[in-house]
Amino acid sequence: MDAARPIVTDTSELTSKAAGRVTPVAADDVGRVTPMMEQYIEIKAANPDCLLFYRMGDFYELFFDDAETASRALGIVLTKRGKHLGNDIPMCGVPIERADEYLHRLIALGHRVAVCEQLEDPAEARKRGAKSVVRRDVVRLVTPGTLTEDSLLDAKRNNYLLALARSRASSTEDRFALAWIDISTGEFCVAECSRASLAAEIARIEPGEIIVSDALYSDAELAPYLRSLPALTPLARDVFDGATAERRLSSYFGVATTASFGAFSRVELTAAAAAVTYVERTQIGKRPPLSVPAREFPGATLAIDQATRSNLELVRTLSGERRGSLLAAIDRSVTAAGSRLLAQRLAAPLTDPAEIAHRLDAVAAFVNDSAARGDLRARLKAVPDLTRALARIVIGRGGPRDLAAIRDGIIAAKDFSIRLAALANVPRDIAQAIEALARPDAAIAAELKRALADELPAFRRDGGFVRAGYETALDEARALRDESRRVIAALQVRYAETTGIRALKIRHNNVLGYFVDVSAQHGDKLMSAPLSATFIHRQTTAGQVRFTTTELGALEAKIANAAERALALELEIFDRLAATVAKASAAIKDAANAIGVADVATALAALAVERDYVRPAVDDSLAFAVSGGRHPVVEQALLASGGPFVANDCDLSPPPDADKTASSAGRIWLVTGPNMAGKSTFLRQNALIAVLAQMGSFVPARAAHIGVVDRLFSRVGAADDLARGHSTFMVEMVETAAILNQAGERALVILDEIGRGTATFDGLSIAWATIEHLHQSNRCRTLFATHFHEMTALAAKLTRLHNATMRVKEWQGDVVFLHEVVAGAADRSYGIQVAKLAGLPPSVIERAKLVLAQIEAEDRTSPARRLIDDLPLFAAARPAPAAAPQRDAALGALVEALAALHPDEMSPRDALEAIYALKAQLAKATKDA
Ligand code: ADP
Ligand code: MG
Repeated sequence: MDAARPIVTDTSELTSKAAGRVTPVAADDVGRVTPMMEQYIEIKAANPDCLLFYRMGDFYELFFDDAETASRALGIVLTKRGKHLGNDIPMCGVPIERADEYLHRLIALGHRVAVCEQLEDPAEARKRGAKSVVRRDVVRLVTPGTLTEDSLLDAKRNNYLLALARSRASSTEDRFALAWIDISTGEFCVAECSRASLAAEIARIEPGEIIVSDALYSDAELAPYLRSLPALTPLARDVFDGATAERRLSSYFGVATTASFGAFSRVELTAAAAAVTYVERTQIGKRPPLSVPAREFPGATLAIDQATRSNLELVRTLSGERRGSLLAAIDRSVTAAGSRLLAQRLAAPLTDPAEIAHRLDAVAAFVNDSAARGDLRARLKAVPDLTRALARIVIGRGGPRDLAAIRDGIIAAKDFSIRLAALANVPRDIAQAIEALARPDAAIAAELKRALADELPAFRRDGGFVRAGYETALDEARALRDESRRVIAALQVRYAETTGIRALKIRHNNVLGYFVDVSAQHGDKLMSAPLSATFIHRQTTAGQVRFTTTELGALEAKIANAAERALALELEIFDRLAATVAKASAAIKDAANAIGVADVATALAALAVERDYVRPAVDDSLAFAVSGGRHPVVEQALLASGGPFVANDCDLSPPPDADKTASSAGRIWLVTGPNMAGKSTFLRQNALIAVLAQMGSFVPARAAHIGVVDRLFSRVGAADDLARGHSTFMVEMVETAAILNQAGERALVILDEIGRGTATFDGLSIAWATIEHLHQSNRCRTLFATHFHEMTALAAKLTRLHNATMRVKEWQGDVVFLHEVVAGAADRSYGIQVAKLAGLPPSVIERAKLVLAQIEAEDRTSPARRLIDDLPLFAAARPAPAAAPQRDAALGALVEALAALHPDEMSPRDALEAIYALKAQLAKATKDA
């Protein structure tokens, strides 16, 4: 901003300082714009898409539309101050001490905020003339993806900014690059993906904010999806300019070329450069300490799409809470860095058995050494969030407590590195951590220890954080300040004596500074000769009269000078210490990450011991053999309510061929059983065991052998999926189509009651055809729960299909769930018994039993039964045609139409249309009959 612009009229800024709040007057009555308002308007114009927090004294003020938006969003009072072009100016403000809290709420509501600070002391402005405007400018844009304050962040989760770039090949061959940065921890990753896996990648990263080019933002095909994501920010083309990407990226890191970072594709460079450019723009030139971008290789992590993630409740439940999720059930970490690393690993399990084994080795080392585990965990508990404190210090947003966190973090890291080195068995990941933990220079911690006081204020500006004795000049300034205070106390005694007023006091407030204070009855005495020569009247209040003296005024100036000088010296020391820390930031960051690694290894070990988990064998095979598996979340919930969890086996490994070698296709388990028997729990526990194994955790089982899974799919029939509420059957079918089109032989597929969101006929036919396709085409390991008992007959035709059922016991007419999975098929659904348990009136239960008995007696002639017999697989075994040949023909045509479909060659839209066509045909067939 131009500080030397001509001054028209603006006295408001420097008044009413005592209240900490200054009142702007925008214009005089003839409607001229005041310099201050001129400054405001100019800054606001440069940041049109942000709410402008305009610093005035101890407040951030908002004006015009911003004020109206903020007062509505925050529930704070909207006032009016001054006029602009003849109209009142709406205004509201937040006190600076509470700014974080208000920022948090505005960001959560999707706003962006530009923070505009005073860049000089108002006294400086005054020197240019009594009516000058204080220099101000925006120092930072606060957006959802670029937060650094602990109060704005969840300590246990990363907060990523994601840049998405596209390279156009042909519309089907487009490549996408993702670059994501957490500026509060310095993590920076880059990956490339296809259009098909884009949504799954974004779901894994869960960015707090996404930036895209204007072109992508308005792309007809992508825009609907992109705009459904939270906090999407379109940016002008230059940010996503491929030609300047390499230069912008190397300039950020201060290197000549990015070649040493690894080989990036052009579109990856574009995304990475867009991300750092946006970071620089929001931090107004400050450069958070980022790691050089790490390239993720395609297929390095287990692909899990959004529907599967939410369905398996990996990091939050369907209702959006952390409680009840897998993450909450397994998180025993005790540091913020550990919590974040654990959440990362859970979101992106690995696919390389060797890497998984390294992680498991680290966990095993602490499972086997309970003394080391207990000792380390007790010490880790006391470690501050070194990572985020460091990021704040480097970008100049840190406080004294952040320096203390760095001091304590470095000291703790050194200590851990020594303790870990003493382990009997040091696996690779721990060896790397030991080295990183020892990396920071111990001299930095020692210097911080010498410099920082025992009690630390929250902000630099509060002062008092430098230890006495650390720097002579500071000690002198403080002594002068404190000495003068003692002189004032002595002065009070002397004045009391010379005036004979024993109640005379010297006090201090923000308006008058130091003053002599006497009650009204003594006021006259000081105002008459001879005392009036010394005591100068300042103020008369209801009961008091206040004076100053020349001597007191001089002392006050001395105190103010000394205090000011002491604070200035402290701030200098702070900057010096911060610069030392910033210089060593790479080593400190490595140590901070290693603390996370040590925490996760010990936390997973503690979990394994506490919950009796076992080390899984993970390899390149297609095996999936779990014995005595349990559901990690349900088990803990049952434990809390005192119930035992029944462990179950599951084996989806390819059956050996005739020549005794394993075939290259996994088994399908078809799980039948009544409602509430435990089918869904069984399905999910096996998916979760695969996720846990591949993230490098022990698993809730007696033994587990898992051939790495490359893609995990989990779908629930529409009727189960109440959370989504609309058009659920359609969603279910689109998702099923995605599985049938994408699952390869390394996939693991969990299908829970697919087809129950529609009428029995089409539901059953879809479930049937789906199983056939999975068996013949996808050939992947599959768990399929269904209430269509008819489907168990498929085992006779499909060699790798295995029937499993939930054991139940009937006891005195009631059904007892044993939660035990056994081979075989459920013969009936026990729906009536379940209804009875649920408390349906006895008359309804009795009537239902009668109806059921009748239906069962007529079973052979039921339409459902005949449909089964008509299906091609059973056509050979079909008994002689019964009645209604015309209907049979219509149904046969339907089956033929179904058989003629080639799901592999269909787009989801075609598949959907085909389903509608089938339904219409079916409706016609049943009506005609
Ligand atoms: P289904 O899908 O067959 O209707 P669920 O899997 O939803 O049944 O399980 C119903 C309830 O039974 C669960 O909420 C859980 O409390 C209990 N349950 C399921 N499996 C087990 C088990 N293996 N051991 C103990 N209780 C179980
Ligand atoms: Mg179920």
